[in-house]
Amino acid sequence: MIKMRSADVAVIGGGPAGMAAAAAAKEAGAGSVILIERDEELGGVLNQCIHDGFGTKVFKEALTGPEYAAIYADKVRDAEVETRLEATVLELTEDRVLTVLSEEGMETIEAGAVVLAMGCRERPRGAIGIPGSRPAGVYTAGAVQNYMNLRNLAVGRRVVILGSGDIGLIMARRLTLEGAEVACVAEILPYPSGLARNVVQCLEDFNIPLFLNTTVAEIHGAKRVEGVTLASVSGMDVIPGTERFVPCDTLMLSVGLIPENELSRQANVSIDRVTAGPVVDDAFQTSNPGVFACGNVLQVHDIVDYATMEAEIAGRSAAAYVADGTLPEAEIQIKVGDGLRYVLPSHVSGLDAVNFTMRVTKPDQNRAIVFSSGGKVLRRLKQQALSPASMARVRLGKARFSDTREILVEVGD
Ligand SMILES: Cc1cc2nc3c(=O)[nH]c(=O)nc-3n(C[C@H](O)[C@H](O)[C@H](O)COP(=O)(O)OP(=O)(O)OC[C@H]3O[C@@H](n4cnc5c(N)ncnc54)[C@H](O)[C@@H]3O)c2cc1C
Repeated sequence: MIKMRSADVAVIGGGPAGMAAAAAAKEAGAGSVILIERDEELGGVLNQCIHDGFGTKVFKEALTGPEYAAIYADKVRDAEVETRLEATVLELTEDRVLTVLSEEGMETIEAGAVVLAMGCRERPRGAIGIPGSRPAGVYTAGAVQNYMNLRNLAVGRRVVILGSGDIGLIMARRLTLEGAEVACVAEILPYPSGLARNVVQCLEDFNIPLFLNTTVAEIHGAKRVEGVTLASVSGMDVIPGTERFVPCDTLMLSVGLIPENELSRQANVSIDRVTAGPVVDDAFQTSNPGVFACGNVLQVHDIVDYATMEAEIAGRSAAAYVADGTLPEAEIQIKVGDGLRYVLPSHVSGLDAVNFTMRVTKPDQNRAIVFSSGGKVLRRLKQQALSPASMARVRLGKARFSDTREILVEVGD
């Protein structure tokens, strides 16, 4: 028989976002908060990130991933959040009923509010369709990180990395420190996809070459990878005659993350075409009232601190929804203008200050992020350097929302 129970707030995913949301919901007065995590411990991806660099905004110091996670695991415990480990949410209905599978069997939970905090997953080889054979030795960066940092296993001796996102860069350094040779990092774009500090600290400091406008055109090897063909590209197309063979026994892919959105779709939440995460307002409420989203399930974060900050708002909003049965309407529309891929949230209530997050379409220098309404500039924030790799964050005070129905955000002068 399936057990049934209820909770005021159910948080799905016990990574940094889920932990912060659950603690904040409880501290904001929600009676019963349940945090459900499929892994055997809280912390999410932070548990395998043993490098430092976490917490520079919230704590003003560079912690390791496990250190940062431990602070929020303590908060969860101190707030008396009920934590369920090794429990997976299999289903989520539109009216907030969760089906959870654990060693204790199947259980359903009727939640007054739900916070989605399931993180994201890596794009595998199949998602980018690299031609060639299918030998062993092709890994995603997260899998390599898991093997090395949690299981003390080496994945190979000579590695080619495809993709220069932060995970790829950090793993280039880690592999080198552990005695592997990183032959090169190939990046299809004309600029690195990761933060500038990671290019310097993880590649340049270790003399690892970075080839821009370059991709892996073919994988070679029968049982095990024996090498890859690199080729220069124009746009996304291989330039004939530029192919060269690079011997290696491992190809590590760091080619992007996708929000883990199966449950979001089941809950009938609108998904943004660009972020591939839910559409939310400034309370982090999705299009389905009572369902909230934060962290990497919403947008891929390069800095965990921002995931934590938005999760705390999502948790408090979930508690307020349970208390009041509704939240203020968010009727001010945010329009995405020139130079930006997306801006989040997409609509706001105007009752409070909002921290907008966004990513630009291409690297740029000495420009500004401009907020305007009806031709009147509300805020212009000068930016020395803009990069798609760095999420920009701009605060707009409450006073700027008065008499406004629509706000345009763009890169300007
Ligand atoms: C390699 C790497 C390096 C990074 N380096 C830095 C850095 O130096 N500094 C920094 O600030 N940030 C860094 N980040 C970013 C930071 O780690 C992320 O922003 C943050 O972990 C996102 O948190 P999250 O809670 O949204 O997702 P996650 O940490 O992915 O947590 C999601 C959790 O949800 C659980 N889950 C998913 N589905 C279900 C389900 N159906 N049922 C139950 N549980 C479920 C998962 O098991 C997981 O524990 C790095 C990230 C990576 C991957």
